[in-house]
Amino acid sequence: MSAPELFDVVVIGGGPSGATAADDLARAGRKVLLLDKAGRIKPCGGAVPPRLIRDFEIPDHLIVARVRSARIVAPSERSVDMPIEGNGYVGMVDRDVFDEWLRERARASGAERRTGQFESFERDAEGTAVIAYSTRENGGETVRVRARSVVGADGANSAVAKQAVPKAGRAPFVFAYHEIVKAPENMPNYDADRCDVYYQGSLSPDFYAWIFPHGDKVSIGTGSANKGFSLRGAVGDLRRATGLDGMETIRREGAPIPMRPLKVWDNQKDVVLAGDAAGVVAPASGEGIYYAMLGGRLAADAVEGLLATGHATELATARKRFMAEHGRVFWALGLLQRFWYGSDKRRERFVSLCRDPDVQRITWESYMNKALVRSKPMAHLRIIMKDLADLLGFLTPWKKAGAR
Ligand SMILES: Cc1cc2nc3c(=O)[nH]c(=O)nc-3n(C[C@H](O)[C@H](O)[C@H](O)COP(=O)(O)OP(=O)(O)OC[C@H]3O[C@@H](n4cnc5c(N)ncnc54)[C@H](O)[C@@H]3O)c2cc1C
Repeated sequence: MSAPELFDVVVIGGGPSGATAADDLARAGRKVLLLDKAGRIKPCGGAVPPRLIRDFEIPDHLIVARVRSARIVAPSERSVDMPIEGNGYVGMVDRDVFDEWLRERARASGAERRTGQFESFERDAEGTAVIAYSTRENGGETVRVRARSVVGADGANSAVAKQAVPKAGRAPFVFAYHEIVKAPENMPNYDADRCDVYYQGSLSPDFYAWIFPHGDKVSIGTGSANKGFSLRGAVGDLRRATGLDGMETIRREGAPIPMRPLKVWDNQKDVVLAGDAAGVVAPASGEGIYYAMLGGRLAADAVEGLLATGHATELATARKRFMAEHGRVFWALGLLQRFWYGSDKRRERFVSLCRDPDVQRITWESYMNKALVRSKPMAHLRIIMKDLADLLGFLTPWKKAGAR
């Protein structure tokens, strides 16, 4: 019997992370297999920053809505509007269309696409990685291919991480659930250009709830790490409170969001993890698409390094480079989530703090561009001092900030 087909790289998972890795490696001239199990739309709010649109050359037609402001709502129902300055916007993508476009781009760049479910990671007599997967087309029978390297981009419950990188461990999770409904045409409190974010313990005891416009649809969701909390109940309450309970429900779906980058992303030989499989979602916001695509790109660079030099140490550069760029922000966001999302009293303070124009500017700047412009050191210092004062309870919310 002949040996299974050999690829330079097998990318397992065709979400934003895997599709990006496959595209980059195919463009570099590598023989790439992009394997995805397909059949399910990834549950996701679909908010993406301009930095992602720029860096990964996302065409206009994939952006189904452009959000120009956020309204954040405190437990007392008081709210703060945070407009985006200038022509800035948050893009909204529909994941079924977006992910398929990314996979097709990888195919057009030269990657071979196959639909199949990764089953097991094995090695042949020479020690080469063998990927076993099943396909519906052949009645679920197992197919095997060999791989000089593997990118594990199979999402938050990564089977590749469990089997091939056992030292990676598991990240803590928030479970997120949302309902996709038809967008209302004329509803006084609904704005198709605005994201609404609810910091209320009744809607999430440790995260937040949201209403994100998506053109002719709306995503209404919430998340929590608390297994006893009824996410469906909270979304139902939010829909009733906002009048969106009257709109037709198109889909109901949920999935875990990892909340901490894993300590190890590679097996020091031929496998590297990327995206949710590596645990890279920003704490506090749950933003993962940009970080998944960046992770895919860094994994592709690392694999290219391995294939070019034969040095397995190249694989560790994916995590090193990611953490050098975003590690501090992830750490700060983790702290923010643990402290400010801890009680309704703190959430009330947190929302009141966001009235500050400098807080708004810096929040948008860091979200949209994933970097802070250091042109306003005094504003940064003032915010840090105010944050500290607030942490220690010196400020009275709303009175000090001037409530709406
Ligand atoms: C409800 C919810 C709302 C969210 N909202 C936002 C948001 O608004 N903005 C944002 O930036 N992030 C959001 N996120 C996070 C974001 O969706 C993820 O971080 C992002 O999708 C990660 O991309 P990925 O490619 O790493 O993994 P995924 O998108 O999960 O892709 C994994 C891929 O692997 C495939 N796969 C899985 N197992 C196998 C297998 N055994 N064999 C073959 N293929 C397999 C799947 O089919 C899938 O295509 C949200 C998450 C949730 C759950």
